[in-house]
Amino acid sequence: MGLRSKLSSADYARLRGYFDSHEPVMMGGLGVSALRQPERKYETPEWMNSDIKVTEFIQMQFPKAGKYGSDCRCDPCSSPQDRLDRSVCECRWCHDTTLAAKFAVVIVHWFRNKCTDTTVEFEFRWKPGTCGSIVQRIRWIIDGKRQDGTARTGNPRGRPKKAKQDQVDSSVQLVGSTAAIN
Ligand SMILES: [Zn+2]
Ligand SMILES: [Zn+2]
Repeated sequence: MGLRSKLSSADYARLRGYFDSHEPVMMGGLGVSALRQPERKYETPEWMNSDIKVTEFIQMQFPKAGKYGSDCRCDPCSSPQDRLDRSVCECRWCHDTTLAAKFAVVIVHWFRNKCTDTTVEFEFRWKPGTCGSIVQRIRWIIDGKRQDGTARTGNPRGRPKKAKQDQVDSSVQLVGSTAAIN
């Protein structure tokens, strides 16, 4: 499933059709207004409309995203050319890559296009609650706090990074990519 900057009206029609005809849980009320919340109280920061700024934001949070660890033995890292599913791996490189992709999805669909949590989770086949928890993490960061919700200390986290260990995978782009995300 690809990352798109916009959901077309055809996408909405498809979603609506799916829910109406195949999903009993959604019967009796999932119209366009339920799919989007244009009147949402939360005001999306202006910078989120810029793909460049969004990419910078995500790269700052996940410096290992889109890279592979040369000292890592996991399958996706040891054979990046095979395009193995990184979302099933918990190594730092794969974890960062998967989470960065989720951040991108949530910023584009939830923050920018004002899609509902359910719509995003449906489209990307995420577990219920995934979208909300990522929205919360992003809002914590925006509020000037760390991702775990504790206050900033002002000190950089972790050891200084060794850039040489990371192999850049130029085929992975955070925004506008077609990478599969789960
Ligand atoms: Zn790895
Ligand atoms: Zn891995």
